[in-house]
Amino acid sequence: MSEAGIKRALDRTLEATGIRDQAGEPLRYTPHDFRRMFATEAVTGGLPVHIAARILGHKTLTTTQAYLAVFQDDLVRTYRGFLDRRRAERPQEEYREPTAAEWRDFQQHFELRKVSLGTCGRPYGTPCKHEHACIRCPVLQIDTRQRPRLIEIVQNLRERIREARGNGWLGGGEGLQVSVDAAMAKLSTLQRAPADGRPQLAELGMPIFTDSTPLSTPESRAPE
Ligand code: SF4
Repeated sequence: MSEAGIKRALDRTLEATGIRDQAGEPLRYTPHDFRRMFATEAVTGGLPVHIAARILGHKTLTTTQAYLAVFQDDLVRTYRGFLDRRRAERPQEEYREPTAAEWRDFQQHFELRKVSLGTCGRPYGTPCKHEHACIRCPVLQIDTRQRPRLIEIVQNLRERIREARGNGWLGGGEGLQVSVDAAMAKLSTLQRAPADGRPQLAELGMPIFTDSTPLSTPESRAPE
């Protein structure tokens, strides 16, 4: 049957139901509307959106998301269901009030995260794994106001490297050079930072992808 034939059959069927739209006209559906209905029903029924995207032959999730009608009732019901499932899965112990000692410990954690060069970004309840060598540490959020102190540290480290080289302490010099490089990386991060004193994240650099993954497959080129 041709697409036009399917459309005519749909029109006749809808007319026979007697269902009208708000303007009093018979409802009209295109065959394409059934893809939207399928996607909405499937995803609100629990099918993960990335699986629905594969079934529909969409290349990106954005296309699938544009298909989905999200109704307010569904939104509230789905979110409440999600919370109930999470609560059922987690130990009941987690839903009690914290003791005074636990609360004190939690608040102190944020006090203890203040270090001389900024704020330590390690997660709550975890110890420092880097022996407080903050200058080299990737989780240090440097305070822009500490720039002069950072410059002083670099100068001091360079003097110590000269001294180490002069005395033939080559091992020590290498370790100091690592600290200088880390401090210089933090300084260059500060140069790009706003001057309002907000702590900044250390520059970690961009990952490099070497594996070339094809951008599309015959399946992903199916009609949307
Ligand atoms: S070395 Fe890193 S983890 Fe340890 S206190 Fe300094 S910033 Fe925090």
